[in-house]
Amino acid sequence: MKRATKNNQKPDLLEEYDFSKGVRGKYAKGDADKFLLRPGITNPKLWFPERPPKAEWDRIRRIVLDRDNHSCRGCGHHALRFMHVHHLEETGENTPQNLTTICVACHAVLHIGYNLGLHVIEIRKSPLSQVEIVRRSRDGVRAGLSLAQINKSFNLKPGPYVPDSIQYANDLVNQMNKAPRASLDEPLCAVFVNLKRWQIE
Ligand SMILES: [Zn+2]
Ligand SMILES: [Zn+2]
Repeated sequence: MKRATKNNQKPDLLEEYDFSKGVRGKYAKGDADKFLLRPGITNPKLWFPERPPKAEWDRIRRIVLDRDNHSCRGCGHHALRFMHVHHLEETGENTPQNLTTICVACHAVLHIGYNLGLHVIEIRKSPLSQVEIVRRSRDGVRAGLSLAQINKSFNLKPGPYVPDSIQYANDLVNQMNKAPRASLDEPLCAVFVNLKRWQIE
């Protein structure tokens, strides 16, 4: 595979934004073999990627999924159905270079604003990494446990605003000012309270 950025490598991280309440805009660059799964938030007022017409989007998606062997860049999960693709940089470019394969669970982590609003996830203070939470949650679901049982087994302290997730999401977006995307600092992680599709069907 051709890698345009190899010879002329840009820094790994985009501009950094600092916020008073622990939101930070650190995003890995496109050539991100070192993709680090962290709870991310998109400012819907500033960036909403426009998709090309369906046939073209389907074609691009297929290229990305095949290139990535249908394996999630966040957690490594392999599944032939229901995989998503996620934009690496908020340039709006719908090119395979700017898209990566991501499972439904990791994608929920990468867009916490939307998923806090739908109450799919909640934020906790976690000594476990975000990837570990995704993997252990999926293992638990596979073993027949409920998400409530799984989250209880993690025994994590609540994050800010719990249980008022929608207020939290709105406040995060308001803190972002001019940043199109940002991510939460450690030790904040997302846990799944109502995610139905774990791609183990
Ligand atoms: Zn994943
Ligand atoms: Zn995405």
